[in-house]
Amino acid sequence: MIPITDPKRQFAALEADIMEKMIEILQKGSYISGEHVKKLESVIANRLGVEEAIAVANGTDALVLTLHAYGIGPGDEVITTPFSFFATAEAISRVGATPVFVDIDQTTFNLDPRKVSEKLSKRTKAILPVHLFGQPADMNELNNVAKQHDLIVIEDACQAFGAVYQGEEIGTLGDAACFSFFPTKNLSTMGDGGMVVTSDPVIAKRIRELKTHGSNQKYYHGEIGYNSRLDEIHAAILLCCLDHIDSWNAKRGLWAARYKKNLEALRCISLPNEKLDRRHVYHLYVIATDERDLLIKHLASRNIQTGIYYPQCIHLQKAYEHLSYQEGDFPLAEQLSKRLLAIPLFPFMTEKEQDIVIAGLKDFQVMPSC
Ligand SMILES: *Cc1c(COP(=O)(O)O)cnc(C)c1O
Repeated sequence: MIPITDPKRQFAALEADIMEKMIEILQKGSYISGEHVKKLESVIANRLGVEEAIAVANGTDALVLTLHAYGIGPGDEVITTPFSFFATAEAISRVGATPVFVDIDQTTFNLDPRKVSEKLSKRTKAILPVHLFGQPADMNELNNVAKQHDLIVIEDACQAFGAVYQGEEIGTLGDAACFSFFPTKNLSTMGDGGMVVTSDPVIAKRIRELKTHGSNQKYYHGEIGYNSRLDEIHAAILLCCLDHIDSWNAKRGLWAARYKKNLEALRCISLPNEKLDRRHVYHLYVIATDERDLLIKHLASRNIQTGIYYPQCIHLQKAYEHLSYQEGDFPLAEQLSKRLLAIPLFPFMTEKEQDIVIAGLKDFQVMPSC
């Protein structure tokens, strides 16, 4: 089977380095919040040119802690996209606030800034855009709306480490940004991990306290917090990965360009749209087709894996029944949830594997329905 992504191959590429670090850490006995976590925080803060990077247990915690640190809670509204992984909206609800959805831009699949103004209310506190599949959202336009209405902007950067928007790396474009290092993300560890980055020292301090049971002095607790830590082993793995992330992202770009060159002419599918002023890092390579079920079967018969991201929009999830959204509220997001399909793309994919995927897609064209 040719997988859509394959974390095993990332491990294989770094096996010697990772095993050496793991043994050193296991023998040393300091497993949590040690030197590797500190180093990872400083490497990421330096790379992005932000004041602070705070390591946490996962990307969802990064979002929850950031929202909480900004004082967002019951009675507040946060504008976000209905077309993302569930955790984006879940984090807003977890702090007691209400997610207010806005439809997406058809070409980037990201929050449409032109539609944000219609949803603003006196309760709106923040905008939470997602750089979906690795392509940056329209940050200038979103920041302009935020500035006019005194809103906080938090980037959900969980799928886009290293993506660039108008010359600047994402993670630096809002008030704070949240990363996930889940094994399938483009920067990932062999387990869970997350990071908040910000240049606001007050927010950074609050997040550090919240993630440590609301404490800044051992066994003294100023408020009710959380337990959200990154392990030393994951920090060490992430430091190994950071040495390679730019070449891995470049490789993703090369594979994407090769798909484009070979598939552009096909009638049955449309390819992802990469805007000229930004660099997409292709966490996922997602095509669109009206014949999704047929295409999934067709590719599976050739041992090619595909994935649906996401089969159900967030506003239509059972968990959000109480918000009374209906089918038809966000037609573009809903349409895409029925048409999008991820095909294999990851840095360790071989040219031969990509050729098989390309051939499989070309063959699909001769089917009568196309
Ligand atoms: C993965 C992801 C998250 C959650 O990250 P975890 O590390 O799995 O908690 C949040 N938002 C988006 C867009 C994601 O892709």
